[in-house]
Amino acid sequence: MQGASLSSTLNRGDKLDATLHPRHSGHKKRCPECRHIFTSSRSDAVYCSQACRQKAARKRSKAAAGRRRQSAKHVTTCMDCKQPFVTVSASSRYCSQACRQSAYRQRREQAIAELVRLAERQQFSGQKVKEHVQRWPLSRLNKALADAKRTK
Ligand SMILES: [Zn+2]
Ligand SMILES: [Zn+2]
Repeated sequence: MQGASLSSTLNRGDKLDATLHPRHSGHKKRCPECRHIFTSSRSDAVYCSQACRQKAARKRSKAAAGRRRQSAKHVTTCMDCKQPFVTVSASSRYCSQACRQSAYRQRREQAIAELVRLAERQQFSGQKVKEHVQRWPLSRLNKALADAKRTK
């Protein structure tokens, strides 16, 4: 009784298996997404179902987006210390706050020097101009420079 029911279950199972996996016409594959063994009539089938294919495609595009983010980081040369550094923003020009400040100081000094040159050319005391603008921020120095050039 026990044996008969077991063998009939197995037989039914065999029949079911034969319907799902027709011999000779199928290629046994393991779906890389859900890890289930499936049979496909196509030898190049990779996924067991449309759902698994889409799931895998989503994963791939997510990974590609990650790689794009990674590659968005690029190496730039610091405008101040001339050392290469990695940045995510294409507009960053300095590797550090210190370099940014040092470059700012340099630009200020250049602006002051040019103001002094212009003043001396116009018979002003360079030294007095220098003392006068010593504490000006760069924006004010640039404005004064532009004005001085206009009234040349
Ligand atoms: Zn699958
Ligand atoms: Zn630097």
